[in-house]
Amino acid sequence: MTAAQTRCSRKNVSITRVPPRSFNNLCIFPIARAIALPPMVPAILGVFVVLLSMSIANGQSPERPESTETPKSTETPESVETDMPFSPPVAPLDGRDGRELLLRNFRPQSQLRVPAHPRTHAAFPVVDVHTHFYYKLRGNSQAIDDFVKLMDRNQIALCVSLDGKLGNQLDAHMKELWTDYRDRFVIFANIDWQGDGAADDPASWDCHRRGFAERTSEKLRDAVSRGVSGLKIFKRFGLGYKNPDGSLIKIDDPRWDPIWQTCGELEIPVIIHTADPAAFFDPIDETNERWEELSRHPDWSFYGDKFPSRDSLLADRNRVIARHPKTQFIGAHMANNSEDLATVGQWLDQYPNLWVEPASRINELGRQPYTARDFIIRYADRILFGTDGPWPEARLRYYWRFFETRDENFPYSEKVPPPQGMWTIDGIDLPDDVLKKIYHENAAKLIPGVAERLAAFRRDPPATNNRKVSQ
Ligand SMILES: [Zn+2]
Repeated sequence: MTAAQTRCSRKNVSITRVPPRSFNNLCIFPIARAIALPPMVPAILGVFVVLLSMSIANGQSPERPESTETPKSTETPESVETDMPFSPPVAPLDGRDGRELLLRNFRPQSQLRVPAHPRTHAAFPVVDVHTHFYYKLRGNSQAIDDFVKLMDRNQIALCVSLDGKLGNQLDAHMKELWTDYRDRFVIFANIDWQGDGAADDPASWDCHRRGFAERTSEKLRDAVSRGVSGLKIFKRFGLGYKNPDGSLIKIDDPRWDPIWQTCGELEIPVIIHTADPAAFFDPIDETNERWEELSRHPDWSFYGDKFPSRDSLLADRNRVIARHPKTQFIGAHMANNSEDLATVGQWLDQYPNLWVEPASRINELGRQPYTARDFIIRYADRILFGTDGPWPEARLRYYWRFFETRDENFPYSEKVPPPQGMWTIDGIDLPDDVLKKIYHENAAKLIPGVAERLAAFRRDPPATNNRKVSQ
């Protein structure tokens, strides 16, 4: 039997599905059966075709198409059954180990050639209202020294560290940041919901004991008297902390009202992280726009019956904001709704005590540059600047580039693959007056301790940065 006949007999290939010019794939016997030729005719035709294909293989036909090179591997018999005019490529699709290209191996290199204006520092002094110096650099004084030098280079006047907690941790964090850099850091406290209770026994948590909100209010008064500038609420409030019966604590539970009221009296803002990106509440399937990242961090998903819906979490938060008009609330991460800025705008219209900041959301804002630019200009008096840092310098520089240039199609993160959505962003080229508001003016108005630090930074700008400090 010839090679062609072997393939035909192993696989009952239909003539209509064979590439018309792939003679090596032709099988004569089914044709003969289909048109009812006498039994000897197929054999004769078969010999003819074999001779014809041999002459083609010897290069006697100037029209020999490349598609005659069918795969040799016996492991891919399906490949001869194709409607395509050409045979599938012999090389594996990822060029490496014979598999189809997996999403996790996809590293597209953009072929776009457009003007690029990378930024090495911010155009005006910056107050970063969303950083985590306790969780990210805890106890590492060298890393803090290095980051302050980075702040100098980038014209970051000061950072707001949101991880102060209360009690001993607050004392330690103040010492860590303020011994050398009191003028460069502001600290927010956190509520100690658990107290001396057991982590896995919600019934034992301090927040379920009588007088918790009043005790917390007292601790906050004390912390503010020692220089604390605000209160940070983490996303586990609404998605993690539990009641004694195992249900999740409600954000708008009236038990916590005295705490929000105290913050209003103390004139310190509450920065509140509620819910998360919309995709984290959807099934992790092929339609999920953050599938790549969720496949690496399935624990970031809040999909399913165990969690409240995203809408209900955001509505609960908004009810608290509405109930406490004298308390200023900062909705962290663009009030966690950067996918829908029109709705964030409605909230800002509805709640004059709501502010927002863009920490870890330039990935979202930068994929809707027209909408984001209009939104930020319109609400320029209510938007602060935040990053979720401390980040590597490369990441921070993308923030400056996003807000200050009209560059197109650049990354929002130094990480590969990009950590929060497999896309690039465009810059929004904000006017200078808007940049100043979001970079520092609004923070100086809202957060105690910022205005005097900013003034000191302007008076005595770091020598390591040769940028001009704008007045
Ligand atoms: Zn954060």
